[in-house]
Amino acid sequence: MTPAGCELCEQPGGLLLWRDDFCRVVRVASEEFPAFCRVVLMRHVREMTDLATPERERLMRVVFACEQALRELVGPDKVNLASLGNQTPHLHWHVIARFADDSRFPDPVWATPRRPGARRVAPDEHALGAALARLLA
Ligand SMILES: [Zn+2]
Repeated sequence: MTPAGCELCEQPGGLLLWRDDFCRVVRVASEEFPAFCRVVLMRHVREMTDLATPERERLMRVVFACEQALRELVGPDKVNLASLGNQTPHLHWHVIARFADDSRFPDPVWATPRRPGARRVAPDEHALGAALARLLA
């Protein structure tokens, strides 16, 4: 089911890094948080508990591979995992590398900035894609 007006049914939601027939991993275009990925289920489902148990495990395996890839490539102080979907009720996980000197740390990336954050470059998309392919092989 692909409801009209669902952003994640109509667009990738970022630069595509890895995909299979179940889910995809994209890098989100964010200047402030350049090591920000999203794991997006290919079909339109609202909640984790709408998935059968093996599918939940399959999705989390990709989320954890994404966390591991970001740790290897950018060495963050923390990785934030979040599943909100309040505005886009299409199951997706945010996987966000955080640094103690980013603009909002230790608050969530959606909070009000505390400081001008240190600038970082985005991890190379080919390196991220290769790390995901290796971790998910
Ligand atoms: Zn959707």
